[in-house]
Amino acid sequence: MSTVNYAVIGGGINGLSVARQLLIDYPGANVTLFEKESEVAQHQTSHNSGVVHAGLYYAKGSLKARLCRRGVELVRNYCTDNNLPYDQCGKVVVALNEVEEARLKKLYQIALDNEVPNVKMLYGEEIKTVEPNCIGVAALHSPETAIVSYEKIAKRIAEEIIERGGKIELNSPVQSIKNNSDGKITITLQSGKVYPTQFDYAVSCAGLQSDRLAKNSGDVETPKIVPFFGQYFVLDDQFTHDVKGLIYPVPDPKYPFLGVHFTKRIDGKMTIGPNAFLSKARENYDGKGFNFKDIKEFIFYPGFWRFAFRNIPAAMRESKTVFSQKNFINEATKYVPSLSNMTVKPATRGIRAQAMNPDGTLVDDFVIRRDGNITHIRNAPSPGATSSLAIAEYIVREVMQGKADV
Ligand SMILES: Cc1cc2nc3c(=O)[nH]c(=O)nc-3n(C[C@H](O)[C@H](O)[C@H](O)COP(=O)(O)OP(=O)(O)OC[C@H]3O[C@@H](n4cnc5c(N)ncnc54)[C@H](O)[C@@H]3O)c2cc1C
Repeated sequence: MSTVNYAVIGGGINGLSVARQLLIDYPGANVTLFEKESEVAQHQTSHNSGVVHAGLYYAKGSLKARLCRRGVELVRNYCTDNNLPYDQCGKVVVALNEVEEARLKKLYQIALDNEVPNVKMLYGEEIKTVEPNCIGVAALHSPETAIVSYEKIAKRIAEEIIERGGKIELNSPVQSIKNNSDGKITITLQSGKVYPTQFDYAVSCAGLQSDRLAKNSGDVETPKIVPFFGQYFVLDDQFTHDVKGLIYPVPDPKYPFLGVHFTKRIDGKMTIGPNAFLSKARENYDGKGFNFKDIKEFIFYPGFWRFAFRNIPAAMRESKTVFSQKNFINEATKYVPSLSNMTVKPATRGIRAQAMNPDGTLVDDFVIRRDGNITHIRNAPSPGATSSLAIAEYIVREVMQGKADV
């Protein structure tokens, strides 16, 4: 029997996980991963909060709910088996008033529905048994929420791909993936070169570029990626120990993103962030420059203006933290007043590949589409890194087998 050829586009944690899963399930297969940068994991995978989300937020029955829970198990095992750091530091989601408390109770129910282990409601002073300096009327405690370095995990997966006989083509931006009439798939690089191997299957995991690659490859144009940056600040060392793990606000349905929170990092540093604001470029992490093509694309997308008009209050809230470090700190210290005089340093931003529908709604769940033998990840926001190994299982064992309704 002839060897089956698989192409995977994108060397972030999702593409790497898919390539690894293919090599595990089909040991004799020929798996080639294409990455446009000179190294893997240069985009969202190395610019995130590093949280292994336990599954507190996701609607029952959604892909996020299912793949996040399975992803936690797989990430934990992967870290143990590969001697990578995994710190189960726990998380509290804190309500500051009765309105938030009512929303928090709904979140507790979602966590129970998703079978998140050992979640518990805490009231008033009970919060201090977990986070001694945190105030609030109630909190949802998830002791198994953890932190990791997704960059380290991704780089270890890249090594594993090579060990298992796969190939990683760096500096190889893909322009298009095309189904041919003979059933084979052709990969054309942005240089114009047609890759010499004809593939049987391809999976695109292009993150911030996923809509463009999908469109160039003949898939549907929408949803479109609209980039939202998230700024972080790192607390100066003397303030780090006032918080033990992760402290989050209760999500407000009026706002599309979670809100500024305290996140412990796997290197022991404590961060606050990320906020969420429209980014002037899809892949610009210092916030200084802009990319005309990226801006033009969302400006001419009617969905963007529908989103913008509906989210003026959210934009106002977020812009306060974009333009003032003091406001940013104030958002966080509502939960830990002992840190109101803390000093911080800016850290690198992250940029979310957030898919947006033509009607201006943000796509909430993961979106994975199949077009013949080509599969596209069209939306994989948080908890996309937590879920990555489970997303890979789902794509290889269900989507590519025609068992999933996509
Ligand atoms: C601010 C922020 C905080 C987050 N926090 C968390 C968190 O705490 N926990 C969590 O689970 N998730 C979190 N996420 C989400 C998580 O980071 C993403 O879901 C995950 O990293 C997506 O991985 P990916 O491989 O799909 O995309 P990426 O990591 O962006 O990788 C895509 C890759 O494709 C490559 N590529 C793109 N186009 C092409 C092309 N044409 N040819 C070849 N290669 C191409 C890119 O160079 C890149 O390497 C966060 C995201 C952000 C932005």
